[in-house]
Amino acid sequence: MAMIELPPLPYAKDALAPHISADTLTVHHDKHHKTYVEKTNKLIAGTEFEKLSLEEIIKRSARKDAHKKIFNNAAQAWNHTFYWHSMAPKGGGKPGGKLADQIKADFGSFEKFHEEFHTKGAEQFGSGWVWLVLKGGKLAVEATSNADNPVAHGDTAILCSDVWEHAYYLDYQNKRPDYLTAFLDKVANWSFAEENFAQARSQSKAA
Ligand code: FE
Repeated sequence: MAMIELPPLPYAKDALAPHISADTLTVHHDKHHKTYVEKTNKLIAGTEFEKLSLEEIIKRSARKDAHKKIFNNAAQAWNHTFYWHSMAPKGGGKPGGKLADQIKADFGSFEKFHEEFHTKGAEQFGSGWVWLVLKGGKLAVEATSNADNPVAHGDTAILCSDVWEHAYYLDYQNKRPDYLTAFLDKVANWSFAEENFAQARSQSKAA
């Protein structure tokens, strides 16, 4: 009985080619992501985590040695779903609306945001993720190690890129900076980021 489900990709496997190939998406979604979901379900079965949402599992297992395996698999399951939506066919370009204004206010310009996201993603040592996050009412770029993510720290994810080698090795081999350039310029899904930003703003107003 699956408690956490593997959501389908929000586009066809070849929809992001040539920037992210169908081969990469097939292995990445159908093998890597699927395994994180299956392992999470196996690990939470019969535990206090069994009936919780993925977000709750992440928050309650974060930074607890006894729950490290649950955290790693649950966070990776969440991160990958967020990553699929952070990309879209005919993506790239720049955000619009209030998110564009806030990026300008917090980074100085879209170009400065672009440079920081690219640099932090490229320089993340080993496996991890690079995020545009909203924390304390301000936008920031953060790189996280392995499975770690903004949910675990009470921050709001706006957009992310996977910098584990499995995300880019088939298409770019060791050239992670080239993958990140393609991510930002060709596939980044700014409509998704704008929705996340708008939702976070309306929640903070309601609170
Ligand atoms: Fe991945």
